[in-house]
Amino acid sequence: MRDFTVRPEIRDFAPYVPGLTIEQIQEKYGLDTVIKLASNENPLGTSPVVQKTIAAHAARAFRYPQNHSPRLVKAIARTAGVAEESILVGNGSDEIIDMLFRMKGIPGQSNVVCYGNSFAMYRMCAKLTGLEYREVPRGDDFELPLAAMAEAADENTAMVIVTSPDNPTGLTATVDDLSVLAGVLPKDCLLVVDEAYIEFAWPPESYSPVQAFDRFENMVVLRTFSKAYGLAGLRVGYGILPPSLAAVMQNARIPFTVNLLAEEAALAALDDEVFFHETLQLVLRGREYFTKELTRLGCKVWPSQSNFVMFEPVKPAQAVFKALLGKGIIVRPLASFGMGKCIRVNVGTDAENTTFITVLEDILHG
Ligand SMILES: *Cc1c(COP(=O)(O)O)cnc(C)c1O
Repeated sequence: MRDFTVRPEIRDFAPYVPGLTIEQIQEKYGLDTVIKLASNENPLGTSPVVQKTIAAHAARAFRYPQNHSPRLVKAIARTAGVAEESILVGNGSDEIIDMLFRMKGIPGQSNVVCYGNSFAMYRMCAKLTGLEYREVPRGDDFELPLAAMAEAADENTAMVIVTSPDNPTGLTATVDDLSVLAGVLPKDCLLVVDEAYIEFAWPPESYSPVQAFDRFENMVVLRTFSKAYGLAGLRVGYGILPPSLAAVMQNARIPFTVNLLAEEAALAALDDEVFFHETLQLVLRGREYFTKELTRLGCKVWPSQSNFVMFEPVKPAQAVFKALLGKGIIVRPLASFGMGKCIRVNVGTDAENTTFITVLEDILHG
């Protein structure tokens, strides 16, 4: 077999490892029903209104979509309360992250500052694009080390990235924290706030800097339809950027990455306030229930502003994960985040949440 030359960066690449699907688990363990609480997906599934919209537009699939999804840009700008010129829509917010690394960083020169135990995409993108990945360690309880991130940034720092609410801890920076950080960064450095879970932070005005986006000159905010809007499989996300940066990035991007059905679905999802509020109610209720019950079971629980909760069980996390799998419940063990003692569980339906706690109680104390 021939060995082809590729960029040296990708020779020893560790691939992104997604969790097993429900079908894979059913087959492996011979189970009829499986409860998946591992990928932070919407517990209510896909909104019925969105499903109808997708069906109604299916016949248009032979057409190219409008490049840059201008209708969706307009709707997002209105919902988020920012200028249309600030919005870039992408194939998941993952695409916007990828674009930022390729277009803001200069290979071999720039660095990116992130904190430890964070979302794997950032490190992957840095490696692929030849940017130095500067990882700032967290405190003993995984607090977000914002002051140390500011210290780590220098004139070659392209971006400082903060996930808020954080995945996997659920910890969240306040608007004040982010204002302070944005204010002390070097002149050419962006503060990128990954708000994949921001819809679940309560009250929102305490946590999202987007309400005062015009006040920040160096901020980029990333959001997604994958979580609160229940469209993970369709791949739609967006960035809110300084308009001058959005304009140059738009010129250099690959065309048509947001497909026609995804755009229609996202437009319908933004309009579907009933589904959105049901999701929010369910998640806030489930998060409170998990926090209370996991504490009762003796676990250490992190305070979450997200649609999941991180906890450290009283027994080894990997064994607890396996035992739950055997009972048809998939959660996310966090060894791949460098947190081998912890597990992340996302809020499901009320019935799924109760089943999870009952089964876990049996595993830990039965
Ligand atoms: C889920 C998630 C995203 C969103 O990914 P999409 O590409 O929009 O599906 C981004 N950042 C973090 C930290 C996430 O957990």
